[in-house]
Amino acid sequence: MRLLLVEDDDHVAAALSAILARHGFAVTHARNGEEALQAVLPTAQGERPSYGVILLDLGLPDLDGYQVCARIRKLTTTPVIMVTARSDVRSRIHGLNLGADDYVVKPYDTGELLARIHAVSRRTSGPAGDDTAGGTGSAAEGTVLRLGAVAVELPTRRVSVDGEPVALTRKEFDLLALLAQRPGVVFRREQIISDVWQTSWEGTGRTLEVHVASLRAKLRMPALIETVRGVGYRLVVPAA
Ligand code: CA
Repeated sequence: MRLLLVEDDDHVAAALSAILARHGFAVTHARNGEEALQAVLPTAQGERPSYGVILLDLGLPDLDGYQVCARIRKLTTTPVIMVTARSDVRSRIHGLNLGADDYVVKPYDTGELLARIHAVSRRTSGPAGDDTAGGTGSAAEGTVLRLGAVAVELPTRRVSVDGEPVALTRKEFDLLALLAQRPGVVFRREQIISDVWQTSWEGTGRTLEVHVASLRAKLRMPALIETVRGVGYRLVVPAA
């Protein structure tokens, strides 16, 4: 898989490129926002460069990283992982709203970064990676999402762990199915509530937290659904 690395710090880029190369990625390096935008544009021969993932450092010398993210999103559907030193909630939400698929806060663990790269690329290349909006009705007939030991059968709304059926309420299933269709991707609380409960943010109180806790307990996998503080939740597929 080819990966576009947008990073102005040559030392960071060299170290990261070496790690990525060891894990089988071919890396194209862009040193600033302009180079990044050039790298996603079609070549003079009309060929579109194809990247599995774009890793975008937000602190760039020439252009605002958020603007680069927004412009990349207009040019290509390639997943973007923002890499940022800014961990505050507003920055993260802003980035996700601009079309980033995920974010990593510096300093990050390279194992975690690799896991996120795999997660977003699975999402775009896998069977559930079509561009239909989230929601429980968008998967094709017969689709079963497998998340380690957990199997989610979308058409029949059945869930099992290690082959044993688990009884979920309607909303618990809807919530799991929503997260499971985009493993690794952070869903904002507002987005989940509007999708699963078809209501706005106000007045739902701790309903979402209660359902998440119940899912973690029923599936006996507390780590399957990760809380992203101040933002929302993501589904983390356990390593095989
Ligand atoms: Ca930087």
